[in-house]
Amino acid sequence: MSKVSIIGASGTVGRYAALAISRIPNMSEVLLFGRAHSHAMLEGIKRDLLDSSAATGIPTKVKYSSDILDLAESDIVIITAGVPRRPDQDRFDLASQNAWVVAEYSKKIADVAPEALIMVVTNPVDIMTSVALEYSGKDKHHVFGLGTHLDSMRLKSLIAEQYHVHVSEVHTRIIGEHGESMVPLWSATTIGGIQLANLPQFSKPDYESLLETVKKTGQKIIEGRGATEWGPGEAIATIVRVILGNENRILTLAAYVSQEINGIGGVCIGVPVYINRSGVHPVEIHIEEEEAIAFKASVARVKKATEEMMTMLEEKKNGWL
Ligand code: NAP
Repeated sequence: MSKVSIIGASGTVGRYAALAISRIPNMSEVLLFGRAHSHAMLEGIKRDLLDSSAATGIPTKVKYSSDILDLAESDIVIITAGVPRRPDQDRFDLASQNAWVVAEYSKKIADVAPEALIMVVTNPVDIMTSVALEYSGKDKHHVFGLGTHLDSMRLKSLIAEQYHVHVSEVHTRIIGEHGESMVPLWSATTIGGIQLANLPQFSKPDYESLLETVKKTGQKIIEGRGATEWGPGEAIATIVRVILGNENRILTLAAYVSQEINGIGGVCIGVPVYINRSGVHPVEIHIEEEEAIAFKASVARVKKATEEMMTMLEEKKNGWL
């Protein structure tokens, strides 16, 4: 029986994630954590979730709170708190605003829930994962971010649509930044277990156009319906299920990489990780030279922004943290 807490549960991503997580069997509790001014919203979400549980027949205890002590004994704490981007913004634009929120909560989580894994969703997610790792002081295997998991899912569904195959026949991976410099691993993209290049029946995909579509998907969703919700919410719930079920899967999440990918690393960024109850473990892989060059550039971009953010937090933290 497991307890999962969501910080930012009154927001779009947090509340849908709560719904998706409440459907995972053997959950002892979903804790909706939010600020006091959002209690009416949290009460509403709780009631709606209980109705949903009654309809599905999956009983899950749902609570809400603004008291940090209530995070105690969480198996996983998910941070979705922070401002989302507007359609005209890059995810990096949110960094300085959201870093304070993530740093403060990470520190508190470590105090009250020392055993919990921390999953960061707040953008820019790669930088925020480094902030959470630093300010929680937790082991690098216990702090991770949503990374390029959602981007990988987006590419998977585009390929399935283009080739008229069931989505579960497609395996693919995007590594690097959850943003402009993401790197698709075409060398690891298969349909029915067979590499794209070895499938003469399928025409060669327009790699550039597929990648551009993936990069713009979030922006298109925000322009169209105001926010991304079901995609990230389901992705978060999948990760929770994998951890609690000790499924030993390999997902593409933001984790601290030393040099597992062609010797490149030194920051939190999207990479394939082996994930189970014990946390995330980057998987050592060798990639094509072109992919390695692009990954190196992505790492450099994220590293620079992460270092700037850490310096900013360090300089101004007195009185805040
Ligand atoms: P939202 O609907 O505006 O919700 C924001 C949530 O954060 C609310 O619960 C809000 O609480 C809380 N919050 C905001 N500022 C806070 C602060 N200073 N202290 C404590 N809590 C604060 O946004 P959203 O669409 O859910 O997105 C949330 C975050 O997830 C954004 O950063 C977004 O970019 C990111 N995101 C990431 C991915 C990914 O793939 N990594 C995907 C989608 C979204 P109140 O109700 O108290 O204001």
